[in-house]
Amino acid sequence: MTDPPELMIPGPGALHDDALEILGSPLLAHYGGDWPRIHADLVDAVGALLGCTGPYLLPGTGSAALDAALFNLFEPGQRVVVPDTGYFGARLVDMARAHRLDVVRVPVPVGDPVPLDPVADALSRGAHGLLCVHVETSTGVRHPVAALAALAGPDVAVVVDGIASAGGEALNVDDLGADLVVTASQKGLDGPPGIGILAPSARGRARIAARPDACRSWYFDLRRWEEHRVHDPVEPHPVTMPTTALIALLTRVREALRTGLPERVRRRAALARRCREGLARLGHRPVPADGHEANLVVVAWAADPDGLADRVLHRAGIMVARGLGPTEGRAVRVGLVGRNATERMVDRLLLAAADCQ
Ligand SMILES: *Cc1c(COP(=O)(O)O)cnc(C)c1O
Repeated sequence: MTDPPELMIPGPGALHDDALEILGSPLLAHYGGDWPRIHADLVDAVGALLGCTGPYLLPGTGSAALDAALFNLFEPGQRVVVPDTGYFGARLVDMARAHRLDVVRVPVPVGDPVPLDPVADALSRGAHGLLCVHVETSTGVRHPVAALAALAGPDVAVVVDGIASAGGEALNVDDLGADLVVTASQKGLDGPPGIGILAPSARGRARIAARPDACRSWYFDLRRWEEHRVHDPVEPHPVTMPTTALIALLTRVREALRTGLPERVRRRAALARRCREGLARLGHRPVPADGHEANLVVVAWAADPDGLADRVLHRAGIMVARGLGPTEGRAVRVGLVGRNATERMVDRLLLAAADCQ
């Protein structure tokens, strides 16, 4: 096999040495021994990083955790407002429809933050939920989720897709005004793929505990996960867990906590600016409107995105992503997650991206 490329896609990120080493170590059983304590440490560490208590860690991806959020907060027929922020906003629309929810889709111009007035209007006509992407990975826009959540009254369950924001943006679940923030292991948290995370606020936890009906999913029933976590000291979850992946994630989340989220966010924002300005100097204008650029993914317009991605791959061995959804065929996307989120790698990418040799 030829050497795999250096990943600078918006996730997964390349793994750090400590995570790689853990993934190559003998498997730990998912019950007994040290495992319950390690699991509790991971729940605490992820909670400390995201600003919540008792996050749920489910084998699966971010999308599985989004499905879980919908299973636990809504019943078929209920109305939800969903800003269509791009590829992943459209996925929320699809997912809500798959749950037989009555979706009020709010269009969002490409590159702009979600406009508050149309969302307020839609909510004022009566809704059970608001589902919104925090960082839309197809456009690189950070959306004003706290301001949007503030438009929703206490009866409206708010779900935030923080899959491309957690670990790289200022995000505190208990302060945000959301019920559940959903994320995943393989993006801003620098872990291996395969773990979906649901971070509940106090309000979200209370809403899930109080729901009158049984959950329509066995696997995703968060009351079952809560019951095991709180009451089973030997096996604090209902299914087999990917223990090595979770231990690798714990190592990286602890590292993030050592740096501290505000400092981590500051560094990543500076790195994103370096990448964005470098691409702009090469003629690739940022897709996001000024002031709404995300920290973990830089999206820039490109006349020939395939040519650019191929140049970067062949000259520097770096894999970047191409446009998706509203930016498909018209942009490149650079992920600043994992071990390659460094100035050195961004500079290497920019040098290779230049059209002249
Ligand atoms: C990556 C991503 C997803 C999908 O996550 P999976 O882990 O692949 O299921 C959903 N939403 C956003 C914003 C993402 O960036």
